[in-house]
Amino acid sequence: MSDLWIEVDMDAIIHNYRQIMAGLSAGCRLMAVVKADAYGLGAAEVAGALQGEGCTAFAVTTISEALLLRNQGVDGTILVLGPSSPEYWQAAIQAHIELTVSQLDWIPTLNKLAETLGTKAGIQLKLETGMGRTGFTGDQLQELAAALREAPQLEITGVYTHFARGAQRDRAYTRAQNEKYLAYVQTLEQAGIRIPLKHVCNSAAYLDFPEYHYNMVRVGTLLIGHCPAPAFEGRLRLKDPWLVKARIVHLQKAAKGTFVGYQSIYKAKKDTTLAVVPVGYADGFGIEPRLVPQNIVDLAKIIVKNMGALMGIQLGREKLLCNGQPVRIAGKIGMQLTVLDVGSAPCSAGDEIVIPLRRTQANPRILRMYKKNGEIMRIRIINEGFLSPSEEQLSNKR
Ligand SMILES: *Cc1c(COP(=O)(O)O)cnc(C)c1O
Repeated sequence: MSDLWIEVDMDAIIHNYRQIMAGLSAGCRLMAVVKADAYGLGAAEVAGALQGEGCTAFAVTTISEALLLRNQGVDGTILVLGPSSPEYWQAAIQAHIELTVSQLDWIPTLNKLAETLGTKAGIQLKLETGMGRTGFTGDQLQELAAALREAPQLEITGVYTHFARGAQRDRAYTRAQNEKYLAYVQTLEQAGIRIPLKHVCNSAAYLDFPEYHYNMVRVGTLLIGHCPAPAFEGRLRLKDPWLVKARIVHLQKAAKGTFVGYQSIYKAKKDTTLAVVPVGYADGFGIEPRLVPQNIVDLAKIIVKNMGALMGIQLGREKLLCNGQPVRIAGKIGMQLTVLDVGSAPCSAGDEIVIPLRRTQANPRILRMYKKNGEIMRIRIINEGFLSPSEEQLSNKR
């Protein structure tokens, strides 16, 4: 079916969820952030598994992500974190999806729409305290409270903000953001706004500022088994649910001096064997986020990495394993094919290679295989198996 696939270990995700729950402050709920297809693992699958564990609150970025979860049977709270366009609001309200409100002029429009639909619309307010992205600023709060008083169809379920430097060692900035948040919340409450849920923590702040848990935290990164910063390593015993594998689909002996791939940047230094695996840029392989150095050592590493890349050496990505033996990438990674110089490693066509592919970069088109207790429980295939149009359909088109 596919020679490239991702294995997602549901037991590891549930393990991570339980670890996070065990560290939650009393009276605090967990909102599972499953945006960006649960960081590549599969939003519906991850949310479904967490729902089975008792999780009743989920967050995504867009209304379409939220509708997908609803349609897949997620029935708790689903909050849209990002800004959204009015043309999608009706679908969201009808599916009982909560929208984040961060612009004043959305309030009367949303209120009117809810009234027309004969229902209430659940909303959360986003406050801008230092992320510089979306949210109400301090000088808008009185106007905000006034607009909300005129909007009886809007049901405010929570007020939140988002930290910019939670994963950095700069705790003062996060503290200042939190203080702003608390002051803004107080202003709103004094203006008569009732606020059931108060939340500020993402994964990093969940770990580093337990005193800011309040009555909800929004956690994504930890659920999928990733630690947001090296400094927090070991604070939770997380399991990695993510494994990408590709099969060797072509194997060929190559003489010393053979050029490999585009621009011939790789040349075999001795007689060897070249293996081809069906993974490349289109799948997200070899694509790295731009690195921002945090200190001088970081900067040196980034420079070396970039110099290596210029010379065709994929530093940090050479650790591919075939039958437990390291094999290296030969030449440039292609759109959907990559060549490996396997040397004298014992490799055969059909052997599995573990591919280092970043979770959030992995194309959703790659088949996902969900495992529970070591057994495959579900397979997700996107964009495969199109049917050809019939002769009749084609002649109608012409
Ligand atoms: C992504 C996101 C989160 C979750 O962040 P993690 O660090 O992945 O836990 C929380 N809140 C908002 C607003 C987000 O965009």
